[in-house]
Amino acid sequence: MENIDSDVLKKINSVHMFHYLKRDLASHMILYSNQVTKMSSTIGQVIRCKAAVAWEAGKPLVIEEVEVAPPQKMEVRVKIHFTSLCHTDVYFWEAKGQNPLFPRILGHEAGGVVESVGEGVTDLAPGDHVLPVFTGECKECAHCKSEESNMCDLLRINTDRGVMIHDGKSRFSINGKPIFHFVGTSTFSEYTVVHVGCLAKINPLAPLEKVCVLSCGISTGLGATLNVAKPKKGSSVAIFGLGAVGLAAAEGARIAGASRIIGVDLNSNRFELAKKFGVTEFVNPKDYNKPVQEVIAEMTNGGVDRSVECTGHIDAMISAFECVHDGWGVAVLVGVPHKDAVFKTSPLNFLNEKTLKGTFYGNYKPRSDIPAVVEQYMNKELELEKFLTHEVPFSEINKAFDLMLKGEGLRCIIRMDA
Ligand code: NAD
Ligand code: ZN
Repeated sequence: MENIDSDVLKKINSVHMFHYLKRDLASHMILYSNQVTKMSSTIGQVIRCKAAVAWEAGKPLVIEEVEVAPPQKMEVRVKIHFTSLCHTDVYFWEAKGQNPLFPRILGHEAGGVVESVGEGVTDLAPGDHVLPVFTGECKECAHCKSEESNMCDLLRINTDRGVMIHDGKSRFSINGKPIFHFVGTSTFSEYTVVHVGCLAKINPLAPLEKVCVLSCGISTGLGATLNVAKPKKGSSVAIFGLGAVGLAAAEGARIAGASRIIGVDLNSNRFELAKKFGVTEFVNPKDYNKPVQEVIAEMTNGGVDRSVECTGHIDAMISAFECVHDGWGVAVLVGVPHKDAVFKTSPLNFLNEKTLKGTFYGNYKPRSDIPAVVEQYMNKELELEKFLTHEVPFSEINKAFDLMLKGEGLRCIIRMDA
């Protein structure tokens, strides 16, 4: 326990959290040491646990008992404590605009604790608190070495792959029949196996039921604004799509000091909620009989300085680009499009010096950057609570899908122990 104690105390110092009550620390340490003791008995063994399996496109997930194989070379087995649902899971579950791959264990926004590590893993150990991330960081390729990219050669997102890269096999099975992985994370399972490069090691004092949303949506939106759109203080920013990702992009605009944040959504129910995130004006494209880019150009004397698209719909992507000001406007695409979507715009828009960019995961490198985003939450610079609108036990995971499909709330936390 000596090492663990000093590690935790170091973290406390680093985030100036002396106000943590001794009692909290003591109870945390007891919980933590129980986890380590309990877990050590499963190292090297196949674990049988519950997972929500998507057997067919669009059919409710079924909680099944699955076998989870031990982690292989450069892999880590993680006990998931909390997971949440992002719209990307829903797209691949519906498989309307994406390649179908079933049976599959979806899920990519989560927080968990390392149960065991495979050969070659040196920077994670049982008991470490981690956030799995759908795109990875090998730390060795040209992208990982570049300050400008998070598109790791080895571990960048591949939505069509359902197996581990080490041996092309799945670590999940039911009675010997393999079940496919999803974006290298598959967090709708009590235990999952993830490549070490797709795990961000975070402050063990950070509450996993909250910071789990930094594993995808919130970091994506925040980074899309802060790292890619980079609005200047006093500028105007349009956000297309006011789900959790879009509102995190709005939060980024607020942090950057934007003076006008224009929220665009087809669902007017989102507008009330969005006020809490600093969105100052609202546009529902359905209320106008002209393209929304024209509406925004009129509102802003020629266009916004920055726009961030967080809908996944091609029309919104095109509008988000065309609504930025000529000369300096920058649009950033975040939404995951239908696989056959084509972006069509006049090349004159580029000649007129509008810039179009896109991003995965807000350009954050999962292992190098995400621990600091967690600290932003711990230091109260970033509010996560306002994104967490619902909670369900794992046994009711399909309710989280219903809420997302109805457009209700932002993030639904799924508790694995309930
Ligand atoms: P969400 O469903 O909660 O929110 C999307 C919002 O967009 C909804 O409020 C919806 O009403 C609105 N919308 C849909 N079509 C629109 C249109 N044409 N014009 C205006 N508004 C429209 O989803 P979310 O979880 O916030 O995710 C948003 C998008 O970001 C999804 O496409 C998701 O797949 C994507 N995503 C991308 C990354 C990345 O790294 N690039 C990461 C996470 C999520
Ligand atoms: Zn890499």
